[in-house]
Amino acid sequence: MKPMFINGRFTTGAARETISVINPATEEILDEVPRGTAEDINTAVTAAKTAFATWKRIPAWERAGMLHEVANKIQAHAAELIRLLTQEEGKPFVENEEEVFWTYDTFHYYAELGRHERGRFIPPGDPDQINFVIKEPYGVVGCIVPWNYPLLLLAWKLAPALAAGNTVVIKPSEYTPLTTLRLAAVAFDHLPPGVVNIVTGYGPETGEPLVRHPDVPMIAFTGSVATGQRIASLAAPMMKKLHFELGGKDPMVIAPDVVVETAVAGVAYAGLINAGQVCTSTERVYVHESLYGRFSEELADFVGSLRLGNGLDPQTDVGPMLRNHFREKVEGQIAEAVNSGAQVLVGGKRPSYLPHGFFLEPAVLINVNHDMTIMREETFGPVLPIMPYRDFDEAIQLANDTQFGLGASLMTHDARLVKRFFEEVKAGTIWINDPLTDNFAGPFGGMKMTGGGRELGQEGLDEFYEVKHVHWDVEGKRKPYWYPYGQKTAE
Ligand code: NAD
Repeated sequence: MKPMFINGRFTTGAARETISVINPATEEILDEVPRGTAEDINTAVTAAKTAFATWKRIPAWERAGMLHEVANKIQAHAAELIRLLTQEEGKPFVENEEEVFWTYDTFHYYAELGRHERGRFIPPGDPDQINFVIKEPYGVVGCIVPWNYPLLLLAWKLAPALAAGNTVVIKPSEYTPLTTLRLAAVAFDHLPPGVVNIVTGYGPETGEPLVRHPDVPMIAFTGSVATGQRIASLAAPMMKKLHFELGGKDPMVIAPDVVVETAVAGVAYAGLINAGQVCTSTERVYVHESLYGRFSEELADFVGSLRLGNGLDPQTDVGPMLRNHFREKVEGQIAEAVNSGAQVLVGGKRPSYLPHGFFLEPAVLINVNHDMTIMREETFGPVLPIMPYRDFDEAIQLANDTQFGLGASLMTHDARLVKRFFEEVKAGTIWINDPLTDNFAGPFGGMKMTGGGRELGQEGLDEFYEVKHVHWDVEGKRKPYWYPYGQKTAE
C-alpha cells in the first residue's frame, strides 16, 4: 500500500479502506492507496494553510531554486516514473517518456517565470501619487487532476501555483495516484512540510470536501464537464476562484491541397495518441469532398496497420483504454452511429489476440453526421469519424458546430485558408499542419463548455495570482475635493 503525503509525512491518515490501482493492459492490481476522507482533506488543508504563512514570504529566487530541484529530481528518477506511468495509465512507453520530460520541464519553466515580475508600476493620476499593481498568491490551492496525463496535468497546476507563492493540496485521480505519490517521495522531499500535500480518494469523498473547504480560496481542476459543473455548483456560494480545463471535441479540417500520405499520418496521430484519451484528441475529421474517398481508404489502411499492445512493449503504437466502462462508452457511440447509417471501415472491436486489458481496435468511420452522438459528445477513445465538406465556409461551420472549444486543427499550405481558420474558429488552440504540439511559453486552454482556464505561459502563472492595486499619496496632503462640498463651491 502506498500512503498519502500530508504535512511532509507519509500517512494513511483517517482512511479505513483502500482503493486498488489496476494496470489497464493486464487488469492486474498494481498496488493499493488509502481511500481518503474529509478528515484527511482537513488535515492537509490545515498543514497547507500553516505552510503558506512562510512559503509566500520566501524570496522568489529561493523558491525558484527549490522548483529547479524538483525538476532535477524528477529527471533523475525518470526511468522508474516512466515505467510506473506506463503501468498505471497504459499509454505506450514513448508517450510516457514525453510526459515525464514535459513534467520536469514545466518546473524549470515556472521556476524562472515566477521570479521575473510580480506586478506593474502604472502612471499616477497625480504627481504626489505612486500607483502600482501587486500580484499575490491566493493561499491554499486545491488541485484536482484527471488520469490521462497524471503528472503533466498536475505539473501545469502545481509548478505555477508554487512559483506564485501558494501552497497546494493535490487530489489525484483514483485511477492513477501512484506516480503522483512517487513524486512526493523522490522530488518533493526538500520542500517545507505542508507546501505540497497529496490526498488520495474518490471525487465525492475527497474532491468535494476540498472544494467546500473554507480555507481553500482556489480550485484548479482538469476533468470532465459534468464534474466541472458539480464543482462550480459547490463553489458558487463561496465565490471561489475556479480554474477549469474541461472536455473537448476537437475538429481537424483537411484542405484539398494536402499531401494525402502526410495528412493521413497526422490525423492518425492526433486521434489515436493515448488511445484517443486526450482532451485535445482529434475527434471529428472534415475532408474536402475531392479527397474524401481516397483519404478515408488510406486512413483506414494506416490505422489498421498500427500495433495494439502493452505500453511496455517498444513495438506498441496504441495501448489499452483505461477501464472497461470507458471502452463500453466508446463501443456504444460506435453502435449508435452504425444504427443510424455510419460505416466502420476498420477497427472498433476488442482484439481477440489480447485476452486481458481494456483494448479496443482503433476505428475509422464514414457516413457520419452531426445528429450522431459520436460527432457531438466527447468520445475519449480511439475513433476517427470522417465527414466530407464542399467548401471552406462549410468546413468552418462544421468545425464550430460544437459545445466545446478546446483545440482545432487544419492541414493546408494555403495561407488564406489559414487566416480564415484561426480568425473564425472558436477554440483556445489552433494547430496548422502541427496537431497536438505544445509550447510551454504559450497558453493552453479552452472556450465555451471547455471552461476558460489557461495553463502554461505567463497566462498560466497569472491564474494563480490575485491582483491588488495600491494607490499611495506620498505627501498625504488634504485633497481639495474632500468634504465639505459647500466650502469647495464657495472657494
Ligand atoms: P473526471 O471529471 O471524472 O475526474 C477528474 C478528477 O475529478 C478526478 O480526480 C476525480 O476523482 C475528481 N472528481 C470526480 N468527481 C468529483 C467531485 N464530485 N468533486 C470533486 N472532484 C471530483 O475526469 P477524468 O475521467 O479523470 O478525465 C477525463 C476528462 O478530463 C475528459 O473529459 C477530458 O477531456 C478532460 N481533460 C481535459 C483537459 C484539458 O486540459 N482541457 C486535459 C485532460 C483531460
